[in-house]
Amino acid sequence: MENYKTLTIDEIQQGLRSGSFSAGELAHEALRVSKAENERYNSFIHFCPERAMEAAERVDAELAAGKDLGPLGGVPVAVKDVIMTEGLRTTCGSRILENYVAHYDATAVERLEKAGAVIFGKTNCDEFAMGSSNENSAFGSVRNPAVPERVPGGSSGGSAAAVAGGFAPVSLGTDTGGSIRQPASFCGVVGVKPTYGRVSRYGLTAFASSLDNIGPFARTVKDAATVLGVIAGYDAKDSTCANVDTSDYQAALDGDVKGLKIGVPKEYYAEGLDAEVRERIECGLKLLESLGCAIVEISLPHTEYAVATYYLICTAEASANLARYDGVRYTRRSSEMGTLEQMYAKTRAEGFGAEVTRRIILGTYVLSAGYYDAYYRKAQKARSLIAADFKKAFQTVDAIVTPVSPFPAFRLGEKVSDPLEMYLSDIYTLTSSLAGNTGISVPCGETSEGLPIGMQILADHFNEVTMLKLADAFERGVGFEVQ
Ligand code: GLN
Repeated sequence: MENYKTLTIDEIQQGLRSGSFSAGELAHEALRVSKAENERYNSFIHFCPERAMEAAERVDAELAAGKDLGPLGGVPVAVKDVIMTEGLRTTCGSRILENYVAHYDATAVERLEKAGAVIFGKTNCDEFAMGSSNENSAFGSVRNPAVPERVPGGSSGGSAAAVAGGFAPVSLGTDTGGSIRQPASFCGVVGVKPTYGRVSRYGLTAFASSLDNIGPFARTVKDAATVLGVIAGYDAKDSTCANVDTSDYQAALDGDVKGLKIGVPKEYYAEGLDAEVRERIECGLKLLESLGCAIVEISLPHTEYAVATYYLICTAEASANLARYDGVRYTRRSSEMGTLEQMYAKTRAEGFGAEVTRRIILGTYVLSAGYYDAYYRKAQKARSLIAADFKKAFQTVDAIVTPVSPFPAFRLGEKVSDPLEMYLSDIYTLTSSLAGNTGISVPCGETSEGLPIGMQILADHFNEVTMLKLADAFERGVGFEVQ
């Protein structure tokens, strides 16, 4: 199958219907290509051939019986290894869960398979989704298929690389502070962070529960919209999942964006933004203008507090969420036991990597008596102000356009010794995470060295339709050279 690496969902479904290939052959090819490329890119932690072949056979049997293909019928999908898959290891990129086998499926996984998807592997990621380069994985770094000596971004680096390298047509990642959008931007693919509550978190290993989201990576906006349509919607198993109508996202992609008002927040185009990234985003804005959008400058005045606020809230929540890995529950337990307390300490010291340990310590500190008001409560107040900035902005604009990250993909190893520098990769994505809005990264050209650049489009809560419509119209217009 020569063209496997570039197939879109529509092409897969046409191929299946016309008999050019079967779902079984496609699953086989997905596994063959991904395994062969994994030695170089390391984008998967493990594969699940039996589960994939079973799903593919179901699709082939339905096709043979003349039934309709589901929206993802036969489509090979890679899933980030923080998302539960029954009967399969779900490691979260951590030594502490190295041999943990999930005993249920996440709602998103269940919905994918019900729609005909063929899940064939679990992707590499930063440990417990903490990181911006995928270098915090206990299973090694991932290389960026667009520029192999560079990082793919993180924490969903494996899922982004799987789509960019042609190993999977679509994949699932998670975004807490930018972990779908930033790697999508670094690898040159589309990545969607849905509105908080749009997609059930049931079966997503919690990092920072008030910020975590599951969302898709794809090569086209349309494919991302299809996957989102499948996984979105109310789920009684997640009390934070919103009971809001899900729209037909694909149908909204009509290319008509005339008259939409786009806000450009002045705070995002300040110091620290790479000149080439700025230039590409400015060209992108010109393209949107030529499609009939009105571009207006706006202000999100509390932006400067976002990084500090995010790292107080996410570490506080992480310290509580990760308390459960204690050597009693789940799999790993240190062989040097001693007292109960020593066993806890040994297990956790052996099982967690440096970044996770740093965040547990910081989070425990900000939640401790005496510091709670000074740090955690203050961060919650700042979070409300940041969310109010967005609410106000969305009263006058339909969407907001910014860079995804201040710089393109950096070299492997370049930022590992400086956590603060690493934290700045997400400076443009964290704010909307705190506010709970939806956001997308859509490819917007390359630097002179050929490094992909993503443009971020943000929209108000549950307004994925406007965001996807804009991103799709933009994607159709790319290839442009607006001066
Ligand atoms: N890079 C950010 C962090 O390290 C975001 C991670 C994420 O979205 N999961 O927390």
